[in-house]
Order: sequence, then structure tokens, then C-alpha cells
Amino acid sequence: MTFASLGLIDPLLRTLEALGYSEPTPVQQKAIPAVLAGRDLMAAAQTGTGKTAGFALPLLQRLAQEGAKVSSNSVRALILVPTRELAEQVHANVSAYAEALPVSTYAVYGGVSINPQMMRLRRGVDLLVATPGRLMDLFRQNAVKFNQVQALVLDEADRMLDLGFAEELRGLYASLPKRRQTLLFSATFSDEIRLLAGQMLDEPLSVEVSPRNVAASSVKQWLVTVDKKRKADLFCHLLKTKRWKQVLVFAKTRNGVDQLVERLQGQGYAADGIHGDRPQATRQRALDQFKAGELAILVATDVAARGLDIQDLPQVVNLDLPINAEDYVHRIGRTGRAGNTGEAVSLVCADEVDQLAAIERLTRQVIKRVDEPGFEPDHRVPETTASGEVIKKPKKPKKPKTAGAKGSLGRWVENNDTPQPEIQAVRKVPKFNTGPRKRKP
Ligand code: AMP
Repeated sequence: MTFASLGLIDPLLRTLEALGYSEPTPVQQKAIPAVLAGRDLMAAAQTGTGKTAGFALPLLQRLAQEGAKVSSNSVRALILVPTRELAEQVHANVSAYAEALPVSTYAVYGGVSINPQMMRLRRGVDLLVATPGRLMDLFRQNAVKFNQVQALVLDEADRMLDLGFAEELRGLYASLPKRRQTLLFSATFSDEIRLLAGQMLDEPLSVEVSPRNVAASSVKQWLVTVDKKRKADLFCHLLKTKRWKQVLVFAKTRNGVDQLVERLQGQGYAADGIHGDRPQATRQRALDQFKAGELAILVATDVAARGLDIQDLPQVVNLDLPINAEDYVHRIGRTGRAGNTGEAVSLVCADEVDQLAAIERLTRQVIKRVDEPGFEPDHRVPETTASGEVIKKPKKPKKPKTAGAKGSLGRWVENNDTPQPEIQAVRKVPKFNTGPRKRKP
């Protein structure tokens, strides 16, 4: 199948050729004709599937061919994304696709001064990429008007709700023209997402594509079991012995990011970290340096790493497994893109067995375990199955209580065959109507 057969116009076809996109991906094959025909869309597609081009190409074409010229402070199409990094990333893609079209594009997001954004909006923008918080700030200050909006895209809608943007989405919904095209992309479809879709979409076409990166054999996945306190040691050991050149590392906490970065820098590595506590400019600089190959190791939390698009990244390491199984797919989607091979390695401790089981259930595979001599864990990680079960060893019969019984209980706890109760692979999603705001990109 070709892009031309999907109905795209010549200027876009030439741009795609220059970008080296020879064939539409499955989500593009389904989305492009439907969006060109004006339909609403509800798509289960994750990062790495080519979804951005799937919605951006037909929207740009419609903007170039239809509708009135954009007025001052107005926008004709809106793409909402959960984080600043994703806003930058999506805008970079969109502006590349719009290269040969008379369509203006721009991105607004929080964490940077609002004034230049207000200035730019005065001239009007055909296609605006925005995070919900900053968009509604601009709207309240009359810097942006929605009366010309003919299309709305909610990208990574599940993540927007996770981050507590329900209120902004409700405000936006109430302010948009009723006649418009709406496209919703989400990795997961919880009750809250369905409720949102029910309110915002009109007889949508449902599109589902299996995440390329889960099915793709181009990403080699394996894990090493290790005790929690030895994870950083193991990472440094693997980094050295495997001679990894460029690694993207995911850690659970901001502290975890900072500690590992400090240690790596102390060992002379070109390493930096990104997380929500660091100013936007610093995060962007670290990202740019990593993309340019000036940094060998970038350590990140999930939120900070959203939207990171690095071509040819060979190595992703999960220092910690994510709480949400879907994030694992997002993480490993950074590698093995567009026909390249990649490797995703997870360092897994006994506390994380439920998260591991949830990931294996989602990806329908048991991740290969590789022992690293010298790092064998004292706390064994129970075996798991592709259906997401944890195989717990039958408990040893308790010895009758005698004076020495305390000692045997101590040994049992030390073996730690059961996962720690505080870690649950359960996704907590705030209700669409009541979700508290947790983070403002
Ligand atoms: P996305 O899922 O939108 O984040 O896209 C993942 C990556 O695939 C991006 O780097 C795109 O530039 C690239 N891409 C999207 N569509 C195609 C295509 N049809 N052929 C080759 N690369 C593509």
C-alpha cells in the first residue's frame, strides 16, 4: 500500500518521500482515509506505531484545502498532549509534515514564559499543539479563541487523565464549537476514557493496532533478577561489561534518577537526568545533548521521558519496572524503531514480581531471565507465566513452636518468596469528572 492510494495530495507525498517514509504503517492505513473523510476516530495505538503521522497528515491536508483563513488569536485545529516533551515532539513532526503546505503550526506548553506564546497567537495559528493546562490559561486570558476550531486531537488521552487534566478537558469541551472533528488516541481504554469518548466523539470509527514494539522481534528483551539494593551496582557492571554506547535508563523516582546520575558522573561517564523537578530548559538541554550523542547515558522518570523520539537508540534499561504495564511498552518503544534492532533490559527485584507479571500479561510473553554471576539475589523473584500468573512456591510446613522457632521464621522472611504487599500492578486512574490535578506540564 502507498501513501498516494490513501488520498494524500502531492505536496505531502513529496515531503514523505524526503523523510524516507516509504509505506504507511497499519494505523496510518486505517486513520488517514477516515480522517480525510471527516470521521471521528477512537484509536488504540501507542507511541512507535506512527500514530502522529496518522492524524497529522490528513488534518494538515484538510486545513490546506478547506475552511476560512485563520483569524487573529484563533486556531483551526488543536492537538492536545499530556507533557511538554510530547508537545515539542509532536510539533516537530507536524511542522516537518507541513513543510510544503500553506499551514502554520505552533506549540504551547507550561514551564516556560507565557508572553512569547501570547504574542505568537495574535497572528492566529492553523494547527496548535498544546498541553491542557497552558492552553486553558491562554484561553482564560483571551489569548486564544476556539470559535474557528474544526478539529481536535486528544493524544495519549489516558495519560492526560492520569496526570489530572480532566478539569481542563471538561472546560475545553464546553468552549469548543459543537461541529468539529474529534480524534482520540489512547494506549488503554478504561471506563474514564470511554466516558470521555462518549462525550466528545460522534459515531467514531474504532481503530486498534497492536503496538508495533510489543510484536516487533526487533527489540530483544531480557531481564536480570537482583536485590533492590544492588540495582545500581548491577547497572554499572553491565554498562562496563556489555560496553553499552548509549543508554536510556528509566528509574521510578526522582531521587533514583539523581543518585544514579551522580554516581555515573563520579565514574567519569557523560550522564544526565530528567525528571519533573528539573526546570524545563535543563530537561530540554539534556534531551538535546542525548539526541546529539553528546551524552552517553540519560536517566529519566516516565513522565519526563514521554515523547522522547530518538532514532536508532540501541539500548533501554529499566532500572525499576514501571507501576503501569503500559509504560513498559512505551519505554521499550524508544528502541527498535523503524526496522532498527534494539535491546531492552530490566533489572527486577522480588518486590516487583507483580509488575513483571502485569507486563508479561500485557505483552503475552515471558521475558527471558539471564543470571549475572555475582549478582544473584538473596530475595528470589518468583517465576511468572505468559498469562501473568506468579508461581509461588508451596509454603514449607511450619515447624512446631519450640524455643528455636523464632530462628526458622527469620529464615522464611529472609527468603522472601512472597512479593511485598505495597507494590500493586493496579492502575489508579482519577475519575474523569473528579480527578485531582497532580501535575501541570
Ligand atoms: P509515533 O508512533 O507517531 O511516535 O512515530 C514513531 C516514529 O516512526 C517517528 O520517529 C516517526 O517519524 C516514524 N514514522 C512514522 N510513520 C512512518 C512511516 N510510515 N515510515 C517510516 N517511519 C515512520
